[in-house]
Amino acid sequence: MTTAAPVKTQYEAIIGLETHCQLSTNTKIFCNCSTEFGATPNQNVCPICTGMPGVLPVLNQKVLEYAVKAGLALNCEIAPFSKFDRKQYFYPDLPKNYQISQYDLPIAEHGWLEIELVDDADNPIRKRIGITRLHMEEDAGKLVHAGSDRLSGSTYSLVDYNRTGVALVEIVSEPDLRSGQEAAEYAQELRRIMRYLGVSDGNMQEGSLRCDVNISMRPVGREQFGTKVEIKNMNSFSAIQRAIEYEIERQVAALEAGEKIAQETRLWEEGSQRTVSMRSKEGSSDYRYFPEPDLTPIQVSAAQLEQWKGELPELPAAKRHRYESELGLSAYDARVLTDDRLVAEYFEAAIALQASPKQIANWVMGDIAAYLNTEKVSITQIALKPLILAELISLIEDGTISGKIAKEILPELLVQGGSAKELVAKKGLVQISDTSELEKIIDEVIAASPKELEQYRSGKTKLLGFFVGQVMKKTNGRADPKVTN
Ligand SMILES: [Zn+2]
Repeated sequence: MTTAAPVKTQYEAIIGLETHCQLSTNTKIFCNCSTEFGATPNQNVCPICTGMPGVLPVLNQKVLEYAVKAGLALNCEIAPFSKFDRKQYFYPDLPKNYQISQYDLPIAEHGWLEIELVDDADNPIRKRIGITRLHMEEDAGKLVHAGSDRLSGSTYSLVDYNRTGVALVEIVSEPDLRSGQEAAEYAQELRRIMRYLGVSDGNMQEGSLRCDVNISMRPVGREQFGTKVEIKNMNSFSAIQRAIEYEIERQVAALEAGEKIAQETRLWEEGSQRTVSMRSKEGSSDYRYFPEPDLTPIQVSAAQLEQWKGELPELPAAKRHRYESELGLSAYDARVLTDDRLVAEYFEAAIALQASPKQIANWVMGDIAAYLNTEKVSITQIALKPLILAELISLIEDGTISGKIAKEILPELLVQGGSAKELVAKKGLVQISDTSELEKIIDEVIAASPKELEQYRSGKTKLLGFFVGQVMKKTNGRADPKVTN
């Protein structure tokens, strides 16, 4: 009798993200205090955001507009009627001892966003990730711990209330993500959408975009979810990916060893590249939510909704699809060009003036992107406006200059702008395509290299490249390579 080798259990990760996104309104959600980042601690505070008795919050209309636009961009249903609730908990950075949030009637629900990854053959793989809900809430203050980056281990802690009352939207995804890579892409797409809308700067270093991950493992084919672990403290997209990958490995190893996964909150430690236990989480906390009595319910009229819908820009996923189907760009090019709305707008302005999207794409993604990177500037800050780029490319296409010459004059155009045509004329860089002129130069080159000519004639035809090179040298790169050949 033979025994089959035990079949190794295959596990799959079930991942959902909760994202807090700071809205870029000038003032806080319920008062007129400034939201400026980096101000002197406790400079931007007033009786409302510090929770003094007897004050009344008033909803900032810009916050509602931004939340609704974000909900629409995430394909959510917008609630015609919703309200604010008090979420009670005690923490030193929360002066009221409750946070004004939304509980059972969030402003937006039941949406989705599309993530796009590429397979090994560079084909796009698209997947819709469900959005459970999006709601508005106020941010808490910030504790500054002396001698440690968190409360434990610090000698004392200070509290800065500047952030208290800054407007947030919390976006909860369905547990549709299956890998660290998918989760990182989801967070990036979310940020792209917020930036396209202009409702958040999405700056992770400044805490404008904060992601918490929920992750559990289950054997493939099983319906029931495993025990959920929460991971906090990731402040980059790659940290999200690596924290999840680490956690998948840790949980699978524990399950294979027959251990139980503890329901807990874990922290991602960037230094050691691992997650560590922060606190156990048994059941859900009782926040004793109840309707906020100081704020009237929120009603969004059909007319208002239509107006905001009409103000939405073309969003990144729609742009990617259009660049591929209408402009014939690759999925990769479409992704790169649409990552930043300003770059996409620059690209579109240039193609409106000139026929070849692929040529424009190559310049924008190549030399221009490299320049933006080195100089740390935005594409709107360069002197090379879309019109000039279009002009430069048409000079290459009609044979006036070679691509090489165009690359050479690009730095000057990037800094000074002006007319590409005039610059080419001024510098005497017009390509030589005239055959009689070229023949003269070729004769000279041949006459000057009798040895190579001899070798060429005896069959070493590879030397053609040498002769063309000599012609280029003699003309400072101005000879038309096609005609010369
Ligand atoms: Zn205030």
